[in-house]
Amino acid sequence: MNTGLSARKINPLALPKGTQKFCELCESVAHLQCAACEVTFYCDAEHQRADWVGIHKRICQLLVPLRDPERHHQLGSDKTDLNRKKVELIEICRSEAQNKLSQGKHHEALPAAHSCLRCSIDVHGSSTHEPVPAYLLLAEANMGLGIIPLVKQLLSQAEWVVSNSPDCPNEIHHLLHRSLGRVHVLTGNLEAALYNFANDIYYPAEAFGLESTVVSDGYFLIADVFVKQGKLPVARSLYYACFAFDLCLPDPPLDKSQQLEADKMFQTMLESWKNDSSKDSTQEALVNHGLAILWFQGGDVQKAAGFGSAALQASQLIPNHDLAESIRGLLQLAPSPQVDPRPGF
Ligand SMILES: [Zn+2]
Ligand SMILES: [Zn+2]
Repeated sequence: MNTGLSARKINPLALPKGTQKFCELCESVAHLQCAACEVTFYCDAEHQRADWVGIHKRICQLLVPLRDPERHHQLGSDKTDLNRKKVELIEICRSEAQNKLSQGKHHEALPAAHSCLRCSIDVHGSSTHEPVPAYLLLAEANMGLGIIPLVKQLLSQAEWVVSNSPDCPNEIHHLLHRSLGRVHVLTGNLEAALYNFANDIYYPAEAFGLESTVVSDGYFLIADVFVKQGKLPVARSLYYACFAFDLCLPDPPLDKSQQLEADKMFQTMLESWKNDSSKDSTQEALVNHGLAILWFQGGDVQKAAGFGSAALQASQLIPNHDLAESIRGLLQLAPSPQVDPRPGF
């Protein structure tokens, strides 16, 4: 069995009459096939290579039973085994796409997100809610690449499926609204973004309660929209609500792209207070404290210490506030700027 990257030209005579094969990545007419699995097709060598590196080398042989069940059957495997392999395949693609997205590698996430969607549809059909997370992964990758018309198309397909699935779980509603909110922010439709982020909070709040981390992420997103609309007092009260839930130390810690996003939002808040005489020292202390924790988790001790000191300074202006103690605790963890700092994120 060939298990490396190898291509073979499609022999049109070998295909059933009137059928055509399409590229795994771009869906144009295929001229090549993977010689190892013989069930995956490509328009050209470049798309085959991109898919191979992105995901196919991990799933090449797993695709055989899914796409050629007869050949699989001849090898003596039963139906339970086949179902187990299908689920395994979708999970590999999902985690690979998610992993690339969380590193901000949108282009590299495309093949895995494509395969995830294709396999989910093969397994569950296109009118059930199961492929929706795969639509969202693909949409997120394209959003990162700025291909907005395609994002809208993917999200409207996902919306259609969800609106026709009465048993669609809360988790999927929540993820869909978050993606819709993000694309509305990108296209400047801030009212629609607010509507979707409000729903983004509503669904997990129903499932996990108002104080879950998922809900607080939603508050951050809403606050960011209010900042964009220039409604700073509303944004501040929302940031305050996040902190009031004691979510300064998220558990599990934020991933790299979430850290960058939170950092951007905190910095926007600080920037907006620079020339504001009505600024609230409590909130300033909390935001600096939040930044100190973010940078501490991100491995940059120097920056963490800098924001920690600013937080301490602001907290001195707050009567009877126990924040100072928590900040001192943090500064003790990051005592000296000379400590060999790991590179920042
Ligand atoms: Zn192609
Ligand atoms: Zn293959």
